Amino acid sequence: MTRLLFLGPPGAGKGTQAKVLADRCEIPHISTGDILREAKAKGTPLGQEAQGYMERGELVPDRLILDLIRDRLQQVDAQKGWILDGFPRNPSQASFLDQLLQEIGQRYDGVVNLEVPDEVVVSRMLARGRSDDNEETIRHRLEVYRQQTAPLIDFYSDRNSLIGIDGDRPVEEITESLQQLIQPS
Ligand code: AMP
Repeated sequence: MTRLLFLGPPGAGKGTQAKVLADRCEIPHISTGDILREAKAKGTPLGQEAQGYMERGELVPDRLILDLIRDRLQQVDAQKGWILDGFPRNPSQASFLDQLLQEIGQRYDGVVNLEVPDEVVVSRMLARGRSDDNEETIRHRLEVYRQQTAPLIDFYSDRNSLIGIDGDRPVEEITESLQQLIQPS
């Protein structure tokens, strides 16, 4: 059973790595960013409400995210494990997750922190060209990350749950380090 949280600045490669690992473990890769982008593309009420925040590089309000996570972790496919990518994103989401996991009788195995320097993050994001990846939004997302998400590094490190991974390496090497986490040799 693998249950992992993925932390790291935007552009650190969380999505890519979380997806590869989830595929290998045959468990769902649960990305709140992907869920929101899909909702936006479909024009659902969630997508419509989230759109402005996403385009400005801000976090969407917790109320749009929490019920969605509660439902997702209780679906059948999530009973054999999961990788959460992009959630939690601030201390109140982290407390909510603690409570929720207790309530539904699950726990996480660890919190992967993909460490990548700022200048690498900016050039990677500019290269990927997503609609919320213009330079001004990127700078704002990094600021939001520093203010709201980075405090979670201490939060999980204080619980001895944090696993630091150097994300400034070739993709395959990072995947290899992550693979060793789930299959300790
Ligand atoms: P991501 O793909 O994880 O970088 O997320 C893209 C955008 O979706 C973010 O810039 C936020 O606007 C929004 N988002 C994703 N996950 C969350 C979350 N857990 N809480 C609030 N907003 C989120």
